Formats: sequence, C-alpha cells, structure tokens
Amino acid sequence: MAENVPITVARGDGIGPEIMDATLRILEGAGARLKIDEIEIGEKVFLRGSPTGIEPSAFESLRRTKVFLKAPITTPQGGGFKSLNVTVRKTFGLYANVRPCVAYAPFVATKHPGMDVVIVRENEEDVYGGIEYRQTGQVTQCLKLISRPGTEKIVRYAFEYARRNNRKKVTCFTKDNIMKITDGLFHKIFDEIAAEYTDIENEHWIVDIGAAKLSDTPEAFDVVVLPNLYGDVLSDVAAQIAGSVGLAGSANIGEDIAMFEAIHGSAPRRAGQNLANPSGLFLGAVMMLVHVGQADVAERAHNAWLRTIEEGVHTYDIYKDGVSRQKVGTREFAGAVVARVGQKPETLKPVSYQSAGADDEGSFASRMARTSETSQKETVGVDVYVDWTAGEPRQLGEACEKLNGDGLKLSSIANRGVRVYPGGSPETFCSDHWRCRFVAEAGEGATVSHAQIASLLARFSDAGLDFIKTENLCNFDGKPGYSHAQE
Ligand code: NAD
Repeated sequence: MAENVPITVARGDGIGPEIMDATLRILEGAGARLKIDEIEIGEKVFLRGSPTGIEPSAFESLRRTKVFLKAPITTPQGGGFKSLNVTVRKTFGLYANVRPCVAYAPFVATKHPGMDVVIVRENEEDVYGGIEYRQTGQVTQCLKLISRPGTEKIVRYAFEYARRNNRKKVTCFTKDNIMKITDGLFHKIFDEIAAEYTDIENEHWIVDIGAAKLSDTPEAFDVVVLPNLYGDVLSDVAAQIAGSVGLAGSANIGEDIAMFEAIHGSAPRRAGQNLANPSGLFLGAVMMLVHVGQADVAERAHNAWLRTIEEGVHTYDIYKDGVSRQKVGTREFAGAVVARVGQKPETLKPVSYQSAGADDEGSFASRMARTSETSQKETVGVDVYVDWTAGEPRQLGEACEKLNGDGLKLSSIANRGVRVYPGGSPETFCSDHWRCRFVAEAGEGATVSHAQIASLLARFSDAGLDFIKTENLCNFDGKPGYSHAQE
C-alpha cells in the first residue's frame, strides 16, 4: 500500500470550511491517500496584523508538503491588505495557472454545450512584475517582460498537460503583429516547442480575433496557452461562458510547490447555511490528486461527481426546475458523490487521468535546455528619453544634433512610437516624452561603448535637457533587439 501523501490544507473564510469539509469527504470516500497538515489563512490572520493573510509559520508547512489545497478567503475591506494568492504565487514561483472551463449541458445551463477548454496562463511575467513609472508630467509606463525561460516553462507545461490529459490541440494567443519582440518571443518559443510534440496539433491566433472566436465558438478550442495579461482576462471569460463559474477549479503550478483552489470567493452571505456548492474546490482537488500521483483516485472521484451532476442532484446555485431532480445542501451533495464512487456518467463524457508524478515533472525541467542558449550581443546605440515641452520637434532635433560627437550621432526622434524628426507630420500629436535615438557615427552596426553613452548623457545634462531614462540598443547575433519607430 502506497504511503499517504502529505498536503497542506487551509479552510479559509465564509463558505470555505463547509466546502473544504465536503471536498475532503469526497476525496476520502474515493480512497485518496492523504496526510493533512492544516494551516490558518485569511480574515483572522489579516486582522491579527499580517498584511498578507498568511503567517510565516504556514510557509513552513507548504515548504514541507509542497502541495496546498486552499479554500477561498475573505480579504477585509480597506487598504493595506495584500493578495494572499499573489504572495503565495510569487514566493513559490507558481508559474502556471491552469483552469479547465467545462460545460455540463444539458444538466447545467450554458450557451456553449460543447465547451471543454483548458486555459493555461503564464503567471509570473508580462506586465505583472508591477514595474511602473511616471516618467514625465504626462506619461506613465509599465514594463512588460517576457523571458525565454519563463515562456519555455509555460509552453512546455501546456503541451505536457495536453499529452497527459489526452488533449488533441494546443492554441497560443499573442499580439505579435504589434509587440514583435516580446509577444514575438512567446510565439517563436511556442512554435519551437510545438515541433517536439508531433502527436498534438498546434495553432496560433492573434489575441483579439482569438478572444472573439473563443467567446463565440469555444468548442473550437482545447488547451489554450497565453501570456499573463491575456490569460488573466480570458480565463475569466472562459469560465463565465462555460456557464459554471461556481463549478470551476484552478491549479497554480510551480517547479516545487503547487496550489489548488476554486475560482470563486468566500461568498460570506451563504456561509454557515449548508448551501454552498463544493464543486469548484472539489475539481481543484481532483487536479491535486493527479499532481500527487493519485490519478486512479482522481478519476473515481471525478466520474462519481459527473454522475451526481447528471442525475440532477444539485445545490441551489445550479438547481433548475425541470432539469434538476433533487435540491441538496453542501453536506448532502458530498454524500451523494461518495455514494456514486465506482460509477461513471452515462451522458456526460467520463474522465480518465494519467498521473503527473514527480518523475515526469523532473524530466520536464531537464528538457528546458535552450534557456542557456547564448548569443553574441553588441551595443550599437542608445535611446535617450527626455522630458521636454519647450517647442516643436524640430527644435529638440536641433538641440540634440548639437550633442553629436565622440563617435555618436542622432539618428531620429520619436514621440509615443512615431518618428517626428527628421521629417515627421505636422498632424502628429506630441506628448512631453521624447525618444532620442543615437547610433555610432561610423555607421549602422558599429559598436558603441558604455563610456560613449555616459559622456553623451553628460552632454545632455550640460545642455539642460532633462533625460529620464536610457535604453541601450543591442544587436543579438547581428539582429536588432529593439523596435523601430513608425515612419
Ligand atoms: P464570490 O465568488 O464569493 O461570490 C459571488 C457570487 O457567487 C455570490 O452571489 C455567491 O453567493 C455565489 N457563490 C460563489 N461561490 C459559490 C458556491 N461555491 N456555491 C454557491 N454560490 C456561490 O465573490 P465576492 O462576493 O465578490 O467575494 C467575496 C469574498 O471572497 C471577498 O472578500 C473576496 O475578496 C473574496 N475572494 C476570494 C478569492 C480566493 O480566495 N481565491 C477569490 C475571489 C474572491
């Protein structure tokens, strides 16, 4: 008999304790082999003065068990409280957010009866580093970071997920027609990794039309992998249109630690009344069982749950006259699922799972070899951004031309990505945020030193021009690693 797997459990707030009890009861009834270590998170911890809602001692449990089954929590109103999810995600590098969005027609009302989409959202990068600046009186900036190792991890995760779950296709959404370097890298890595998974179909959509298609015809998609921001937006859209926000679970996967939960909140008004639907948390727990190598139990529990749903045993939130047969409370619903362990659904599609297993995850990490790929980097110029409101673009151009020398010369000035000097259109609206591009006097591709850049900045300062940031222009293996302004 295999040993029990230690997991960390938090019962949370509001309906959390009830739905956790119900979930654990179903897992036990299906034969899960778990050893539970309970921690306290949420409102009480916030109100004891912890800004994150989780105490350092709780992290020790997570580091030990590496698996976290978390009920929803209530974030107290008012400022000063941080998101517990963001804290756990950042502390433990939970890079993948996995959210299956499934319709259970005709037993749960939905506009998209055939929908069965898994959203795999990158969880650490993109604009979520929260690196923002107000750079001038008029202009603010947020840094969007897309890295090769970060993208390799999430894309490979999506393909491994597809393979383990008998999925046929992985779709990638980006906006690489506009963000050619950042989203372009995500798309390029998607193509590289897709080529290794010849058994799985792959496709790429520009995110705008992809999102429209996903909202209109979700049955055309299977697994969808996205950068963080698009994933944040579209995972909610997908859960909503499946018609089953209260039924969706979610996994946050890191290299060492993973967290499983429902996507809904603590529904305080429903708390303590034996009303809440435990299904979202339960379906999160099913993903947890697969993750800890108990695919057999996950399959038994999930199929019993599907059977319960199709037999019309429903909690109030999905109960519908004419479709449902029995309105039940949280505890009774759990009991109904346990009573069906060993049965499979007859109308809905039964599930089958293969365990992720520690070995799979290990070998998957070792296959991320390309991250060490090196390229020849050469600095060939610098963009100096200035805060300037003193006149026409031509006047700034002339002021910058005077700073030419020491091997550097002005090549162009752009405002909000549009070239305004030399040339430019009088119609172009200009803010107070100017990008002055300097390249080697010796011609395109000639290298530029840090010392030349530093002395250029000294000349800006001497001329009384308020420079607010610089970006080095680098070529990688002879190819430009920077964008060009629109002409
Ligand atoms: P909510 O998801 O808690 O509730 C929204 C609506 O859905 C309510 O009408 C509720 O009655 C219903 N509902 C939600 N889950 C249900 C279930 N399992 N069964 C039956 N009905 C259910 O969202 P909210 O009211 O905006 O937020 C309440 C609290 O939850 C807030 O403090 C919020 O910060 C927190 N929250 C926590 C998490 C989390 O811990 N991951 C996520 C979202 C919201």
